[in-house]
Formats: sequence, structure tokens, C-alpha cells
Amino acid sequence: MSESKDFLRTIVEEDLKSGKYKEVITRFPPEPNGFPHIGHAKSIAINFGIARDFKGHCNLRMDDTDPTKEDTKYVDALKSAVEWLGFDWGDSVYFTSDYFPKLYDYAVKLIKMDKAYVDSLSEEEIREYRGSVTEPGKRSKYANRSVEENLKLFEQMKNGEFKDGEHVLRAKIDMSAANMKMRDPLLYRIRHTDHFRAGNKWSVYPMYDFAHCLSDYIEGVSHSLCTLEFENNRDVYDWVLDTLGLEPPRPYQYEFARLNINYTLMSKRKLLELVEDRVVSGWDDPRLPTIAGLQRRGYTPESILNFCDQIGIAKANSMVDVAQLEFCIRDDLNKKVPRVMCVLNPLKVTIENYDGCEDIDAPYYPHDVPKEGSRKLPFSREVYIDRDDFMENPPKDYYRLTPSQPVRLKHAYIISCKEVIKDASGKIIEIKANYNHESKSGSDSSGIKVKSAIQWVSSKEAKKVEIRLYDRLFKDEIPNGLEDINPNSLQVIKNALVEPAVITDKPDERFQFEREGYFYADPIDYSDEKPVFNKIVALKDSWAKKKKTTKSQAKKVHVEGEVVPMSDEQKRVFDKYTLELKLNSEIANTLARDYHLSKFYEESLSFLNSPISLANIVANEVARELKQMHIDELKFSAKQISQLVKMIDEEIISSKIAKQLFEDMVKSGENPTQIVADKGLVQISDPSYILPIIDEIIAKNPDNVAKFKAGNSKLLGFFVGEVLKRTGGKANPKVVNLLVAEKLK
Ligand code: ATP
Ligand code: MG
Repeated sequence: MSESKDFLRTIVEEDLKSGKYKEVITRFPPEPNGFPHIGHAKSIAINFGIARDFKGHCNLRMDDTDPTKEDTKYVDALKSAVEWLGFDWGDSVYFTSDYFPKLYDYAVKLIKMDKAYVDSLSEEEIREYRGSVTEPGKRSKYANRSVEENLKLFEQMKNGEFKDGEHVLRAKIDMSAANMKMRDPLLYRIRHTDHFRAGNKWSVYPMYDFAHCLSDYIEGVSHSLCTLEFENNRDVYDWVLDTLGLEPPRPYQYEFARLNINYTLMSKRKLLELVEDRVVSGWDDPRLPTIAGLQRRGYTPESILNFCDQIGIAKANSMVDVAQLEFCIRDDLNKKVPRVMCVLNPLKVTIENYDGCEDIDAPYYPHDVPKEGSRKLPFSREVYIDRDDFMENPPKDYYRLTPSQPVRLKHAYIISCKEVIKDASGKIIEIKANYNHESKSGSDSSGIKVKSAIQWVSSKEAKKVEIRLYDRLFKDEIPNGLEDINPNSLQVIKNALVEPAVITDKPDERFQFEREGYFYADPIDYSDEKPVFNKIVALKDSWAKKKKTTKSQAKKVHVEGEVVPMSDEQKRVFDKYTLELKLNSEIANTLARDYHLSKFYEESLSFLNSPISLANIVANEVARELKQMHIDELKFSAKQISQLVKMIDEEIISSKIAKQLFEDMVKSGENPTQIVADKGLVQISDPSYILPIIDEIIAKNPDNVAKFKAGNSKLLGFFVGEVLKRTGGKANPKVVNLLVAEKLK
């Protein structure tokens, strides 16, 4: 256990001391609707870690109450993540779905106590009736139903006699409670979807607020540890358990801060989008923050647990720098893995005064003398070095090989350049060199001074490998989604060369490639014919340097509760935008706080009087560009933005096309009207063009048509989406919406 106790451990310790519980039981309760990510690792480390420290137990429970999104493959991924991190859930994994019968009985008990009722308002009405933070809600007229009627209706709901959304079961608490969650929360809803474990047995499914506390109670959980967003649910948690008057002891809920890391996303919904849209290769893509991704990238469980330990457990949300995670893996591997040589970008060097070959005994851990282990490193007349390690016209502080500067081949000899061979295009294809035979590493008596030692491989023995270099998946410090993807997050090098010792048949092998970073034999794609290595992390934090030198200003990390006050001038601009131009405060805030952006906005306004549309595009799209470059470097002007917005306003182009157009404009600086004319992007509103496409899509999707007609109104979006896709985004969405709705009536 770490020396200083966090607040959760303090609570647990006191509860054990006071005899409130005999044993600490925690649980890790993921919903199996996606692969777990490093945020889950934090929760796993806390829940399993506390159980271990206090000799208790942690249950692994699948919180599987939403049949529409859950799947066994996610259950397997969750189990595998917990195991990989080194924790043990004991004999069996628990499932909330196993408690469905018990939960149903508890609901019946609440109804009998007149503490729950069947409501028949529509989803929208329920939302309306709930009121707002400043206004109390209003109770549904159905809350007056008798206990008998409620029991009967609830049973019919269970038996599948109603459609989705026709009724819900709600707790009868307080429609004017200050805590909105307490305004008669939903306990059950109807879902005619097969459950991946319970099959078609149930037509009602319990809501989180009802299922979670009771599942905790059923399992004898003592401390229910969850993230801060559930703070307001705690009142419901307590209400359900207290109202049912359950035999003590009962569990209590405590909240801790969620883990956020910059340059990445941690919402399962958004991760699923990346996977489904094939932006990444799968849930285990090494660029993802999923456990499977980190594992495949080459992270060790120790490094992740260490990271969780370092960030600690706090009660306020904050943003953790991804550099801290990278530090943890570097720190772990630095002590563990052998150092070998790989040449990423080979350049041939012929050592003209060397004949024959020899094997050099080279230590694996040259930096850590007591640690033993070495390999035979073949040396010969023809070797490869990295292109970056030779320069014909070097700058002053270049320490590697040049026509006049010798360099050491690591573990071997010093060489000097005799001749540079180029092809017809002037590209360097070979270096002719000489070596000094008295300069061998370890017994150097040559007296030659060199400024650096570089990696190399012997050409005959070297093996060709594929290297996958990863960079951050997002270019934005706080990304929103697909639009912030870093287009250079994966670089594949097909023809890198490694020394023979790197070729391995052991699984789970990591190496330091000298001067390049830490690498991992890809557990899926590595084969004898095609060895593949993933770059885990660089040797140093190269982003720290980059950040300082870039001109653009990084978006400020927003820490909750910390807002930089506006200057008087910014406040004046903000007021003008919100009061006169009627912009919403978020957009006005973005514009007012950035001098260049608000100037740009006002200039565009001088061409087109469309304050809201212009503000939207300037505060989003233009602002995004300005994060990468200075305003003077933009290829497009305020006038062009006004032309673009004019076409949107006049419905000449769809907003989808507008996005694409904007990207084109960013690159080419061409006039948007010209691009639209050249590419034929004019929006199509003509029904005679759109209707046949709708017919075709309807004909192709009879299942969805049937579902739509049976009441699944969400499918309207599916049909509209398909039509838009088919027209390359050119169809006018409003028109398509109307036509589709008409057709499906
Ligand atoms: P998402 O919102 O991405 O779907 P979630 O919180 O709904 O994530 P669950 O599967 O319900 O995901 O989470 C299981 C447990 O892991 C919960 O106790 C939750 O609080 C915790 N958890 C999820 N994300 C984080 C995070 N970023 N940091 C710490 N704990 C997390
Ligand atoms: Mg959740």
C-alpha cells in the first residue's frame, strides 16, 4: 500500500475499524458495450487494489441492463483486461442480468408500498414534466393509479403486452426535489430486444439507478466506488435501499474523479465510432487508449498500474498529460529490455579497407553493467547506417558522419567517409568508407576523437522488418472526434533492417532499438516471413520540445472550476455578440477571447449580414485552423468564408458539403463558389431526382421498413442517412427528410 492513504482507503479503514463491515467488498461494474480503456484501468486498480490491500474481495460484475448495445465479445475483453492487469475476481463473474428476477420482485415490493407507479406519459412529456434546475417539476396524472392497477400494468409490461416506450415504471419520490435525479426517476423501461444472456425472456429492463444499488446489495458489497458523474445518483441509490428497508449492512456509494488524458478520447461511444468507421484497425489498434490497444502497442501491465498509482485518487476532475503515461512505460522498459540495433532508413556503407567478417560480443545492457547478457553482432565489409546519420553539408552542431567527420559504429569501429555515390537524380545511394583497425570499441588505441556512435547492421546478416511508428491519434489536445484526427498517426516503414539477434520466436518481446525508441513484436501480425514491430514510445519526450517551438497556441486545458477572467475589452465584445448579434454564449465566448478570431469574424460580417451562421463557422472551423497556424498564414480570407456561408444560407449547398468545401478551401485557397461550380456540388432538392433513390433504399431494406412501421421511429434517420450517402451528401437533408417520412407513412 502506498505510504499516504487516499480518501477512499481512509474511509474503508475506518469502516472496518468501527465494525460497520466485517470485510471490504468492492466491485468493478462495467457495462459490456465496448472494450475497456485506461480510464477503466484506473477504476480496476482502485476497486481491486483496495480489496487486496484490506484483504477483502472485488467482484467483477457485468452491468448488462441494456440489451441493445451489449455483447459477449465485450465481456471477454473486460475479463482479459482485468486478468492482464494482474487481478483476480475469484470463482465467477457476476452479471446484473442474473438478478433480473430478484430485481423484479423488489420493484413489485416498491409498488405495493405505493413507492413506485407505472407512468404512461411519452418520453418527451416526461422530460417536459421534469422541470428544470430553476423550476420544480410536475407529477404525471398517472401517478395516482392504484397499487392494484400498477401491479397489473407492470406485470403486463413484463409479459410483453406493450410496445417500447408505452409505459415506464417510476419511483414516487419528489417532483420538486432540488436534485433533479430525485424527480421520480425511471426504474424500468420496455425493450423488445433479445438480451445476449437472458434471451427473449424479458420485455422490461431495469434502469441503472435501480439495478446498481440493488446488485451491490445482493452481492454484499460494502463500498460502491464510482466516478464523479454519479454524484447526484447517490440520493437515488440511498433512497432505493432505505425505502425497501433491507436487512443491514448495506453498501454506500463514494465517488472519485474520472481519468481524462489529453490528445485522446475515452468515451466508449466515440471509441466505437472510430472502430466502426475504420479510422483505426480495431479495438486493439495500438493508437487507442483501450487496454487491448495499449497491450498490443507493447505497454506492460506494470507501467499502467504505476501510472494509476502516480495520478492518485482525487475528488476533482482534471486532465492528465499523456506524457505522464509515456514516462511510465519508458521508465519500466529502461530497466528491463535489451538494447539492440535497427536501421529504419538504410543507406549502404562499403568499408573498402575491411575484408572478411567477424562476430563482435556486444552487451545487451551497456548502460547497466551488473546486468548480464550479450549477443554476437556480425560485422563485415558492407553495412547499413541510417540516412539521417550522414550529411554531406551538415550544420555546425551535427555530430554524425560527414565527408570530414568520422563516426563510431556502435560496439564496433570508427569509420570515415571517402566518397559519396549518387544516382542520376542526385540522391545519395552509397558511402565508400575506411575503418581504423585500432579503433575497436573496448580496446580503442586509435586516438581518433568522434562525437557520436551510431547504429548499423551488417548487410549480409541483417533481416528486413516492418516497423510501425505511432504518433498521437488526435492533433487536438482536447479532441472532439473524427474531425480532430492526426492524419500522421501511423507511419509504416516496410524496409527497415535489424541485426539478427532481434529476430525472435518468443512471444511478448520488447527491445530498445538504440537511439530510436522502445519496440514490441506485434502479437498479431508478426511472422517469420514478415516480422513486424510496433514502436511503443520514443526514448525522450519529443512533444515537449515540439510544443515549445510551435507558433500556434495550444488550446488551454480546461480544468473544472478554473476559468480565466475576461479582460474589459473581451467582455465588451462578448456582450455585443450575445446581446446585439444574438450569438449563444459558448460561441461568443470563443470569439471574444481571441482577438484574431473576432477580427476575422467581424470582417466576414462586413461582407454578409448573417451573424449566427458566420459565427458558427468562424468559432469552429476557422478556430481549428488557427490552432495550427498564424492568421497571416491562412490561405482563405474572411470574404471567402462569407461566400461559403451565403451558399449554405441560400441552401445552394448542404452543410455536409460545406464541410468538405471548407477543407478544400483550407488547402487551395480557391474561391468556394468556384469549387462548387468545378465540382458540381450544388445541393439537390429536386424530388424527381431524390424519390427513385428512396424507393431503391426502401426496397433493399424490408426489415428496417417493418421495424419502422412497428414503431421504431429512430429508423427514419437510417433511411435519410442512406439517401444522403447515395448522393454523396449532395441531397438537401430537409427535402429528403420530408420525402422519406411521406414514403414510409
Ligand atoms: P463510457 O462513458 O465511456 O461509456 P462508462 O463509465 O459508462 O464509460 P462503464 O463500463 O459503465 O463505462 O464503467 C465501468 C466502471 O469504470 C465504472 O465504475 C466507471 O465509473 C469506471 N470508469 C469508466 N471510465 C472511467 C474513467 N475515465 N476514469 C475512471 N473510471 C472510469
Ligand atoms: Mg456507464
